[in-house]
Amino acid sequence: MKIHDSVTLERVTDALHRRQTHLDDPGFCLYCGADAEGVEPDAQEYECELCGENRVYGAEEVRMHMAFP
Ligand SMILES: [Zn+2]
Repeated sequence: MKIHDSVTLERVTDALHRRQTHLDDPGFCLYCGADAEGVEPDAQEYECELCGENRVYGAEEVRMHMAFP
């Protein structure tokens, strides 16, 4: 899976931390690199509000793909 260059391990780790501490539902658009909110941990292929691509994934899902590309 191709992950946008701006979606770094640091951003994903921070998002995972936010979910635990603020009850946020963070995710990322892997196509344009935008942050997304209201995304379940295992969300896949949600529509990005910014670019319109169905490439929004939950932070946990992105983290997993980074560990096992
Ligand atoms: Zn996007």
